[in-house]
Amino acid sequence: MQQILIMDSFTDFTISKQLQYAIEDLGFEKPTPIQAQAFSVILSGKDMVGIAQTGTGKTFAYMLPILQELKFSKQLAPRILILVPTRELVLQVTQEIEKLGKYLTIRVVGVFGGVNINTQRQAVAQGADIVVATPGRLYDLVLSRALNLKSIKKLVIDEVDVMLDLGFRFQLTNIFELMPNRRQNIMFSATMTDEVAALIQDFFIAPQTVSVALSGTPLDNISQYCYAVPNFYSKINLLVHLLNDNTLYNKVLVFVSNKKSADKLFEVLNEIFNDQIAVIHSNKTQNYRIRSIEKFNNDKIRILVTTDIMSRGLHIDEISHVVNVDTPSFPENYMHRIGRTGRAELEGTSVLMYTEKEKAAKEAIETLMGMDINLLTWPSEVALSDTLTFEEQPLEAENKTSQKKRDESAGSGFHEKKDKNKKVNLGGSYQYTIAKKYKKPKTRGDKNYNNRNKKK
Ligand code: AMP
Repeated sequence: MQQILIMDSFTDFTISKQLQYAIEDLGFEKPTPIQAQAFSVILSGKDMVGIAQTGTGKTFAYMLPILQELKFSKQLAPRILILVPTRELVLQVTQEIEKLGKYLTIRVVGVFGGVNINTQRQAVAQGADIVVATPGRLYDLVLSRALNLKSIKKLVIDEVDVMLDLGFRFQLTNIFELMPNRRQNIMFSATMTDEVAALIQDFFIAPQTVSVALSGTPLDNISQYCYAVPNFYSKINLLVHLLNDNTLYNKVLVFVSNKKSADKLFEVLNEIFNDQIAVIHSNKTQNYRIRSIEKFNNDKIRILVTTDIMSRGLHIDEISHVVNVDTPSFPENYMHRIGRTGRAELEGTSVLMYTEKEKAAKEAIETLMGMDINLLTWPSEVALSDTLTFEEQPLEAENKTSQKKRDESAGSGFHEKKDKNKKVNLGGSYQYTIAKKYKKPKTRGDKNYNNRNKKK
């Protein structure tokens, strides 16, 4: 077992005056645990694997030793490459490096997809010491010979678990091949998965592991609560009730599991909180996403609705609450989501809403964390909705199954059924009862109501 030197004050760090001044300007009093542990390992030049969640101060954990070592140079080709999974993260990391390198002469360039490549080509052509990039765009720049990776001395892969989840393994391998073999590899991941372990096995040389939060260990400063809720529209009622308290819920990140729910939720909330809210997911344009995040970051809006994919690259500070409207089916996603609050030792709160169907997923999260989430009683002043989303309606589920069965038998090469044996879908009795009961949709959210009835 190798020994790691742990330092509990920035004065224990062998860092230049310029870095010390920058840290003072940032107002940091002491290193976070990952910074304390990673500093000497990275400085030693060994490969390193850091297991740390977002919010633990991991960006400065790798940037401090890297900037300490980086000598002034006029060389055009970069010496440091930082790979991150999302465009937002490129912007955030670039900004953090600029803050830390305030009194140094360093050239940092951020590159990411979805925007004009020519501007980025020109930016890298001016020369850079550090390139922060998403893998796809970086690879394109190298292929078009705008960028050369032959001088890379240190490679940092941040949020590698997210990167592999997003399917970047192939691009990563391609990029590794464009770099010199003699380089230092540094990687950060919130969780250790089989895929992460395989990547380390293939490309790292005897890495030292530095770990501050084991997979499934929530940060102590996040208070976690949950509500048992019958359906999606009751969840919305509860969410509106919570968000009405704008003193307590002053910066709220709201998670749902897919774009469709995000849009549906936004549509309802926007009516009530319209100048305080935005939604971001992968279908939104790059500019819209950047603008929304900036507004949220600068406290121009109070509520941001988002999905898991978008969530993980976001670096936003002082989030008061993370609200999980859907219970994530992968417990790790819950860890990522709640890790957005309680960052850098600030207090944070997370709220989870789960339906009967999501109960097992909630229990899986509790098993992963080794603790129960405090169950709160339903606030009596909040109305329970009996409107069901299309997906929640039992008949639709039955219809889907019978449709699937029909499709399967149609494709299985069996003879056609005689007419009298054919099942004809007449809409089903439940749908009929509901249609009779409600002459018009109960909420705007049930857009399919009219379509369903037209079909009859
Ligand atoms: P990260 O985990 O890199 O996303 O960092 C989370 C936040 O912690 C960033 O906003 C940093 O500015 C902040 N931070 C980093 N290091 C420290 C420190 N030593 N003391 C207080 N805040 C810090």
